[in-house]
Formats: sequence, structure tokens, C-alpha cells
Amino acid sequence: MQSISPEIIFRGVDAWQKALPQITKLTRNPLILGRSDNTHDLRKKISRDLKKQNINAKSANLYFDCCVEDISRVKNIISKNKSDSVIAAGGGKVLDAGKYIAECLNIPCITIPLSASTCAGWTALSNIYTKNGQFIKDVALRSCPKVLVYDHKFIQTAPSRTLASGIADALAKWYESSITSSKIDDGLVQQAIQISRVLRDQLLIDGEKALNGEFENNSSWRNTIEACGLTAGLVGGIGGEKCRTAAAHAIHNAITQIITPKKFLHGEIVGVGLLLQLRLEEMKNNNKLADQSIKQLLVLMEELNLPTTLAHLGINVFENQNLDKIADFTCRDKSEIHFLPFEISKKDIVEVILNFEKQKIKL
Ligand SMILES: [Zn+2]
Repeated sequence: MQSISPEIIFRGVDAWQKALPQITKLTRNPLILGRSDNTHDLRKKISRDLKKQNINAKSANLYFDCCVEDISRVKNIISKNKSDSVIAAGGGKVLDAGKYIAECLNIPCITIPLSASTCAGWTALSNIYTKNGQFIKDVALRSCPKVLVYDHKFIQTAPSRTLASGIADALAKWYESSITSSKIDDGLVQQAIQISRVLRDQLLIDGEKALNGEFENNSSWRNTIEACGLTAGLVGGIGGEKCRTAAAHAIHNAITQIITPKKFLHGEIVGVGLLLQLRLEEMKNNNKLADQSIKQLLVLMEELNLPTTLAHLGINVFENQNLDKIADFTCRDKSEIHFLPFEISKKDIVEVILNFEKQKIKL
């Protein structure tokens, strides 16, 4: 069984207004789930608009991440309120928590991404973290959300850093799926990989213009936010679990194990993982194009002000056995790193990180 996409998608400048009649048909007693102060006003608006339609909307916030503590607390709130749906309005962690909770309780989930940082509004997948943001596991859900509302006016209000992060995460789709799945003899998977290549090209062309231009009449911005929030999700939907993540996400998951004073966004960490994956491909798979890809990505990532080293992520690889911890987690049994078509050892991870960090210090 494969769930390719949300049942209904509203997209564009008035997506929320257009979605309202559909949502009022679907739910009478929803719980609006959110998290950050940045999105408080938007969630208030969503709640107000629903109440005007005589919908008895209640609200709850995550305190931490998409973690078991928050998940069980919100489940209790839903049971107490007898909510008949979850409206998850926020970034990736909120969307993941909303989808997971709705599935556990067998009620529909409506996702309203409030930034372009992620394709979590689309996918049938939730990542579970600890309270401190350390990756634990991803959980495949039975289905994509019932309704996805991708309102451009809402997304305009998000900090530009979230868009840069979404671009890095969406770029990884091509580099990860093409290396793990290029030999899979399944037309749909191959077509999904090709969509991810077109998606990458679009981001290389439009990414910088999207981040630094105006919103109004900026087709680069529109194309880029939809690439990050919708097309990236579609690739996962069509490609399914075979269209896999690889080293970039495995290294992301390992980096989150190191707790740093400043928190970084998912895509910001994936971007560093992606550069390291390409170095691994060069080192272990004799991929001559990998160095070219690194150079090409570095130009864009620097234009977008994205971190490109572990040092930029606030991690000193020479302290606290950080390097060993990252190498251990990256190479653990269940890690996606093993989807690469060549063997990777802890020693390789240590070597590639050290080389990369030293090289960047010299630049
Ligand atoms: Zn990701």
C-alpha cells in the first residue's frame, strides 16, 4: 500500500480561505497544534476563522520537539476535548507531531505549513526526536494528511532562514535518491528520481532569487516554496520507501545527537550532511562528478547563508569525542548510511569530516 499524496491540496495566496468550506465539512471540533511564538498570530487567525464558521476549535502547543513527552501530553488533551481532527499549523516538528498523533487516534490530520522549511505537510512520515532534539527514529504512517493547505500569504511571514533550510533539504532528494535507487527496476521510482532532478535544477536556478527578491510577482519565490513544500513531498510519495534518504540524512541524524546552545533547522543540518555525502562518494565510489557538485552547491549555500561545516553548526569536532559520537551514530545498524551502494565504516566518516573541516578552515 502506498499513499502518494494528501487527499485534497489547496495552494496559492488564498489557499486558507478556499480550504475553509472543506475543513468545516470535515471537522466540528478540531485541535490546532502549534509551537513557536513566531506563528502565534497566524494560529490565532486560523482559530478565529474557524470559530466564525461555528467550529469549536481548541489549541495546544508543543513544548519541545516531536517527542514522546509532547505526543502523549497532546494525545491526552485531544481525548479530554474529544477533538475529531488535528490541524497542525507550523514547521516540520509540529506537522510531524500532528500527523503522528492523528494517526494514533484514528482521526484526520489537516496540515497547514507556516514556512517552506519542509515537505512534512505532504508526507506519510514522522520523525521522532528526544525533548532536546536528538533524532530517534522515523515512523512510516498509513497515509498522507487528509488535507494540505499551502497558503502563500502564511508562508510569506516565515523568516527567510526557514526557506534557505527548506532549499537544502529539498536539494538532498536528488543526491540521496539517485545514489540509493538508481538500480531499482521500477518505473515509478525512476520517475520520482527524475522529478527530484528537475526539482534540484529549479532550486539551483531560482533559490537565490527566491530568498533575496520581493514576494510580489516573484515567480522564483513561488516556484521555490512550492518545490520545497510540495514537489519534495511528491517525490517521496511516488518513490515510496525505495526512493530513499542516504548519507545526508544519516549524518543529519547523527549531528542532532550533539546538543549545542544554538538550535539549527533540519535542512541546515541536512545541507552539511549533503556536502559530506558527496565527499564520501568521491572518496569511496570514485565519483568524479561529486567534487563539481560540491562546488556548485557551495556557491548556492553561501548565497543562502546556509551553514557548510560542522563548525558553522556550533560543533567543535576536536572536543568531547564529538567526532566519534557522530561517526558511531551515522554507522549504527539501522542507519540510512547503509543504503549507499558501497561500504562505509566509522573510519571513513571520521576521515571525511576531518578533511572537510580542515579544508574549509584553509579557504
Ligand atoms: Zn529532510
